[in-house]
Amino acid sequence: MPIYEYEPDDRICYMCDGRVEVIQSINDEPLKLCPYCGLDVKKIVSRATFQLSVDTGEDKAAKLGFTKYKRAEKGVWEKVGGEGADYLVGSKEDMQAIEEEKKPRKILDLDKPTE
Ligand SMILES: [Zn+2]
Repeated sequence: MPIYEYEPDDRICYMCDGRVEVIQSINDEPLKLCPYCGLDVKKIVSRATFQLSVDTGEDKAAKLGFTKYKRAEKGVWEKVGGEGADYLVGSKEDMQAIEEEKKPRKILDLDKPTE
């Protein structure tokens, strides 16, 4: 199946570097929303579109420098191949929540004397 490229309509997309490649059937409707960030996108004409036809699996896509994501749950996409973040999450707030959880927590115990 051909790869179609989309770019944000009228703003910078910070999650997908301003451009996304999507493997779609020729018969599929063009995407209106970015599969990564959910913002509106428009299809752009790509030179490479038909070079990668027929059965481009996750591994191949990764080798070619694409990062493929599959939808894990609502608003969350899980990486299945390629470079890039392991998860993509829908909203800024969700991203922040994840970052917060990654931070090591400092627990200050006032009862323990410091040496
Ligand atoms: Zn995007």
